[in-house]
Amino acid sequence: MKELQDRILKDGRCLPGGILKVDNFINHQMDSELMFHCSAEFMRLFADRKIDKILTIEASGIAPAVFAGWLMRVPVVFAKKAVPKTMDKAFVTTVHSFTKNRDYTVFVSREYLNPGERILIIDDFLACGNAAVGLADLCRQADAPVEGLGFLVEKAFQGGRDLIAKALPDAQVESLAVITSLDDGQIVFS
Ligand code: 5GP
Repeated sequence: MKELQDRILKDGRCLPGGILKVDNFINHQMDSELMFHCSAEFMRLFADRKIDKILTIEASGIAPAVFAGWLMRVPVVFAKKAVPKTMDKAFVTTVHSFTKNRDYTVFVSREYLNPGERILIIDDFLACGNAAVGLADLCRQADAPVEGLGFLVEKAFQGGRDLIAKALPDAQVESLAVITSLDDGQIVFS
């Protein structure tokens, strides 16, 4: 998606270790118009799939997921990373964070993922694929099939797409900006 790629080239910064910093339009300050356009693109790309619910993970997946949910007229659920006292029954999984280099627990209340609901997973980044596969595991526990996964930015050099293909061979995977290299501070798109 050209608008997103142009913005990444303009405002994205490469950090050591293959990290792309996009704090000024996705991860801290959010450009709501750009997020809305990204969500409209998700709606177009997944138009052939019947989607009942969108699942994302806090925090940065929420903005594109909410706009997509509004456009597609489906509810949006975000997986949480800290267990609130008010939650008795939950689907729980463990995800390894590439950016923070640690494991964390992710969960969704059993109330909000139901058997047979067709799920679209949306997140900001696809890197190694652990967050996406963790979200898919929550759906598996709920007997809710994953129809598709949509990412704003994919770092293709970290292999996440292969991990998803193994875990979810029938799911449609779409990324709006696919980066093949961040070497030497240069952002290269596919
Ligand atoms: P994965 O589980 O695919 O390795 O990583 C996905 C998660 O890690 C995303 O939800 C995102 O929050 C974070 N992440 C991975 N790589 C990057 C990156 O280069 N920049 C930013 N800002 N977040 C990243």
